[in-house]
Amino acid sequence: MTRLLLIGPPGAGKGTQGARLAERFAIPAVSTGDIFRANVAQATELGKQAKAYMDRGAYVPDELTNALVLDRLQQPDAAGGFLLDGFPRTLAQVETLDAFFAEQGIGFDAVVQLLADEDEVVRRLLNRAAEQGRADDTEAVIRHRLAVYAEQTAPLVALYADRGLLVSIDGLGAPDEVFARILEGITRKVG
Ligand code: AMP
Repeated sequence: MTRLLLIGPPGAGKGTQGARLAERFAIPAVSTGDIFRANVAQATELGKQAKAYMDRGAYVPDELTNALVLDRLQQPDAAGGFLLDGFPRTLAQVETLDAFFAEQGIGFDAVVQLLADEDEVVRRLLNRAAEQGRADDTEAVIRHRLAVYAEQTAPLVALYADRGLLVSIDGLGAPDEVFARILEGITRKVG
């Protein structure tokens, strides 16, 4: 039974490490960004509503996001645990999740924060943008996005640190090495 939250900027390896953690603990990786993108691709009602916000780089309203996540966490495959990625992102979302957890008598076992050197992350994101033909992802745009991310997640990181759940991991290095560090950090929390 493992419930984890993965926090980290774009380019820090969250996708790779999240997939590995999900496999190791046999839990679903629940990424709100992935769910929204899949809904946009399939032009579902949720996707249509979310798209306008996502296109602007804005948060999808809590009404939609909270309902989506709470529904997902009540699916049978999440009964034995889950890895959340991309949610909660605001203190209001933390409150919603706390209320749900209290109702269910559950909580996070650990909150894993992936840290990565900014210049390295910028390099990775520039490469990714070039591969995907996203010319508008310039270095300035990427640095701005990273600054916004850091500013927005700081209160969450502080809150989970206060609760004694935070495991901060150096995300630089080979994926195997980083994964080993994460497992070690989680083991320290969970025992
Ligand atoms: P991500 O891949 O996590 O960067 O998410 C992509 C987009 O999905 C974001 O820019 C938001 O528009 C939306 N999104 C993902 N997670 C959330 C969330 N927790 N709250 C609001 N919007 C979200």
